[in-house]
Amino acid sequence: SRAQAMEVAESPDVVYDDIGGIDEQIREVREAVEDPLENPEQFETVGVEPPSGVLLHGPPGTGKTMLAKAVANESDATFIKMAGSELVRKFIGEGSRLVRDLFELAAEREPAVIFIDEIDAVASKRTDSKTSGDAEVQRTMMQLLSEMDGFDERGEIRIMAATNRFDMLDEAILRPGRFDRLIEVPEPGPEGRERILEIHTQEMNVAADVDVGVVARELDGYSGADIASLATEAGMFAIRDGRTEVIQSDFERAREKLQDADKTEDRVIN
Ligand code: ATP
Repeated sequence: SRAQAMEVAESPDVVYDDIGGIDEQIREVREAVEDPLENPEQFETVGVEPPSGVLLHGPPGTGKTMLAKAVANESDATFIKMAGSELVRKFIGEGSRLVRDLFELAAEREPAVIFIDEIDAVASKRTDSKTSGDAEVQRTMMQLLSEMDGFDERGEIRIMAATNRFDMLDEAILRPGRFDRLIEVPEPGPEGRERILEIHTQEMNVAADVDVGVVARELDGYSGADIASLATEAGMFAIRDGRTEVIQSDFERAREKLQDADKTEDRVIN
């Protein structure tokens, strides 16, 4: 079950240059994760503890997972990912067991970056922890906190987590010695969107007269993940038309298609 619940990569194939529009966040993650992994002696000499855990928070599809993969890759560390939802288990003790496995595996594979996605699944404020399901989730969170508390920050394991629901988090996990470095990963602004579109069209055969800046200007409210889908859709239109190059109107058609899909989704929800 260990293998099922965790994703392990010796070196994930993401580099900092693949991530657009969040340079400041990249800088902060490097300082909190890469520097302590690469120069532990410097922290020792200066006499400071690096942050225990790094929490990335912000809307979906903005690059939080990419950031965690990239810092693991660029620090030559094993990347070990666990989804918070995986830690919410049916049987008593299963969640805590997985948390222990996670830290054990990291110790075997150090240097390592542990990344817990959707941490809110196990670390939300609870109004009612009397129901048995909630009590079990609570125990899993306590196990996570105890693993972090018994942890040597100067060691070769760094812990990261991500959430789209920062407001829901239990403050216990944000205390010093736990997730004590918070990094907000916001939706991209105009320049970020252009950079992200550049990244995602880099490998595509785009006609010379396509102006990525013009396309990007129409993408207000798009996340990085939305922009990645837009680029793929544009390529699909070119293929459907039997062309080898992606032209400006392919991006417009892709945008319309994604907008329509969005509306359909709204209708289903409402
Ligand atoms: P979630 O909260 O939904 O898990 P996330 O913030 O972790 O989302 P990622 O999984 O990192 O988002 O991004 C999903 C995909 O969207 C990436 O694989 C990439 O293709 C694209 N993407 C998102 N953000 C960026 C970005 N800043 N630069 C380039 N591509 C991006």
